[in-house]
Amino acid sequence: MRCSECSNILIGSGSAVYCVVCKAQQRGTTNILPAIELLQSENASLRQQLAEALEKNKAMHQQLCDLMSESRGVAGLHLNGDLAEWGWLVENEWLSLWDESPEADNA
Ligand SMILES: [Zn+2]
Repeated sequence: MRCSECSNILIGSGSAVYCVVCKAQQRGTTNILPAIELLQSENASLRQQLAEALEKNKAMHQQLCDLMSESRGVAGLHLNGDLAEWGWLVENEWLSLWDESPEADNA
């Protein structure tokens, strides 16, 4: 059973069940086994989405690595015409999430 307000999966029993996310009171009872099945299904879906996002992140990281190895920096960032070199961008936090190694251990 899902919350009618926020569609969070409800787990509990009794005549009144409260949603832990939005605190809405729900009528009826919930059965733990269907709730577990729903959670397992959502967990599998989220794991799949995470795996896809990690793959995209790796690919994007590789594209940025390629771009950085084949160019010197960004033209037009400094309004005085100077080139903003990649090293300068990294040192000055323009690429604050930059990490030379794209490998994530939480795949
Ligand atoms: Zn809710």
